[in-house]
Amino acid sequence: MIHVENLVKWYGPTRAVYNISFDVPEGQIVGFLGPNGAGKSTTIRMLTGYLPPTSGAASIDGMDVTKESEKARRQIGYLPESTPLYMEMRVEEFLHFRGKLMDMPRGDRVKAIDYVSDRCGLQQIRKRVIGQLSKGNRQRVGIAQALLHDPKVLILDEPTSGLDPVQIGAVRQLIQELKGKHTILLSSHILPEVEKTADRVIIIAGGQIKADGSPSELRQRVGQGASVLVQVKASSESVQKAFAGVEGVEAVEVHQQGEWVKAVVKPKPGSELRERLGQTILTNGWAIREMRNETASLEQFFIQITADQSQVAEESVA
Ligand code: ATP
Repeated sequence: MIHVENLVKWYGPTRAVYNISFDVPEGQIVGFLGPNGAGKSTTIRMLTGYLPPTSGAASIDGMDVTKESEKARRQIGYLPESTPLYMEMRVEEFLHFRGKLMDMPRGDRVKAIDYVSDRCGLQQIRKRVIGQLSKGNRQRVGIAQALLHDPKVLILDEPTSGLDPVQIGAVRQLIQELKGKHTILLSSHILPEVEKTADRVIIIAGGQIKADGSPSELRQRVGQGASVLVQVKASSESVQKAFAGVEGVEAVEVHQQGEWVKAVVKPKPGSELRERLGQTILTNGWAIREMRNETASLEQFFIQITADQSQVAEESVA
């Protein structure tokens, strides 16, 4: 449904997006995740036909976003980062205005406004002036206008930014309810945001894709970087020596804490170390007060790969 091939965007000397490619099948919710300045909005603006790419191509439902921009845009409902609402208009009036811009006849508009008002919980506030609504309700109006022409693809740029936790929960739920009916690309710089909502997460940093997979696949990648944490009563030298000799151990780091040694033992890929480490402790007759697998969190993984990448981007531009 969304096809992106080698997209590149330079703003003068600044390389904002470099060689991004991905495909999104129909019905999938994809979280587009990256720190500030990663290139999310630039990619989204190219996808929605608002910004020409320096090179590369993108299409929505088979329609090229630059060569058939008008047709491609009709397949997209777009919620930009700062929603362009007319503060002095009433909700219903604004939705009519948006529908007219999409060339929707009056009868279709009335039906569509009823439908999106139901979907987005706007029935109670249809007659209210937009400028007097809470930010959460304004965001619902933004999503409603994006849905009005029943687009195949919904592109939401930071849909929960600036909302309080209750409003965030409500917008998240709304996005979940839209699942199945639309293919959704959702950008965010907050990991839990996309982790909770998306079927798949694309992590972008320094204008390039750093990881692409379902939240559970990304968790597995994190799991492979896990280590075993052990605390035994011994000297750090003896623990270092004994653990380093255990089959399947890649690295051992030891910290003496009084009589106790805290060891972080990194396994070779695919190795489960706890049983063998336990036997080594028994053989040496050491007292033990802790042994557990320590998994890096998805959050740490995100920070690590995006930090590496922003450094690369700075170097490439410098
Ligand atoms: P944010 O979450 O802060 O919006 P983002 O991931 O959406 O970040 P972009 O806004 O796409 O990132 O910006 C990517 C890079 O391009 C940044 O280095 C930014 O400073 C630069 N950039 C964005 N828009 C322009 C512009 N109009 N002119 C020059 N540089 C720009």
